[in-house]
Amino acid sequence: MTISTPFPNTSVLIAGGTGFIGQFVVTASLDSGRQTYVLIRPTPTTSPSREKLIKSFQEKGAIILHGSINEKENMKKLLKEHKIDVVISAIGGECILDQLALVEAINAVGTVKRYLPSEFGHDVDRADPVEPGLTMYIEKRKVRRLIEECGIPYTYICCNSIASWPYYTNRHPADAIPPLDEFQIYGDGNTKAYFVAGSDIGKFTVKAADDVRTINKLVHFRPSCNFYNMNELAALWEKKIGKTLPRATITENDLLAVAAENQIPESIVASFTHDIFIRGCQINFSIDGPNDVELSSLYPDEPYRTLDECFGEFLLRLDGKKDETVAPNANEKPVNKKARDETAMVEPLIVTATCA
Ligand code: NDP
Repeated sequence: MTISTPFPNTSVLIAGGTGFIGQFVVTASLDSGRQTYVLIRPTPTTSPSREKLIKSFQEKGAIILHGSINEKENMKKLLKEHKIDVVISAIGGECILDQLALVEAINAVGTVKRYLPSEFGHDVDRADPVEPGLTMYIEKRKVRRLIEECGIPYTYICCNSIASWPYYTNRHPADAIPPLDEFQIYGDGNTKAYFVAGSDIGKFTVKAADDVRTINKLVHFRPSCNFYNMNELAALWEKKIGKTLPRATITENDLLAVAAENQIPESIVASFTHDIFIRGCQINFSIDGPNDVELSSLYPDEPYRTLDECFGEFLLRLDGKKDETVAPNANEKPVNKKARDETAMVEPLIVTATCA
């Protein structure tokens, strides 16, 4: 039997809800029936897709609060006024240190029962990517240390890779359809990684957020059904599209060269790709420490969406988008800066599919 005992009528505040990962978290929180607040920061300009997204959250019952997480006094006021139990941050990689003021606000208020900082990747204390990815991890570690120093109950979500073709320069690879003309395989393509559908990242983050068993724990997402190496991913996609594609090798040095260019965010993605598919950072440690929990031990009856299903969804998207450019960097060669810039500028899509 699964016991999760959430706080009764948990009120959840989500920061970064308009972002790529945050959308999944907001959707899951609303679907779960938890009282959901979404923090929207003031911006000089906004886009129609952002406005549409915020409206869709409101229509589903979200309460919109305005502010930036680095405004400590305003955050204190909002946390107190709305009696927030759980704060989940999904703010982007370039704003990680903004969370320091939020942690201070949570500490000052003293009523928040759990904080989930913006992690959503690897265990940043164990993984050691090359720069510039390392700088982001150093910042995430700094946020962890402040949370721990303040004694704020926390949960660190280590969900590994998003279910998609892991394009090495695209920070949101799940926005792009897997390759249609050639696979770029990292190294020998034999290093395995865990892939998790965006909807599952949202769903399990929300479940873990008020589960008493995850207080002060690292929750690792290691779905055995979605444990693939690049060669296996390629074979899975070939089965879906009914066609065999050529393979090009992206060597360790190619990835390191892109990382060394220090183009943000592409070089950060290249450094993580190197860490995952060359060094094996998702699999080179065991999770049997006192603070580690594996997700399926918490929710054994809750299945993950399989990568097979997610690739099936990409195929459906492909069918619906025959006339559009489908994978902006599918043909990209290792140091094709122009193509990378175009990829980096793709506006995040409103997420409609459940996997990506
Ligand atoms: P995005 O860049 O897509 O979104 C960032 C969000 O943070 C936006 O909603 C933005 O709001 C909001 N934001 C930024 N600064 C502030 C602030 N000071 N106050 C309030 N809101 C703010 O982020 P991602 O989804 O890419 O990243 C979220 C986390 O997930 C990161 O930790 C990242 O490292 C990780 N990640 C993991 C992936 C994986 O495959 N495992 C893939 C991608 C990310 P606004 O609308 O105003 O811009």
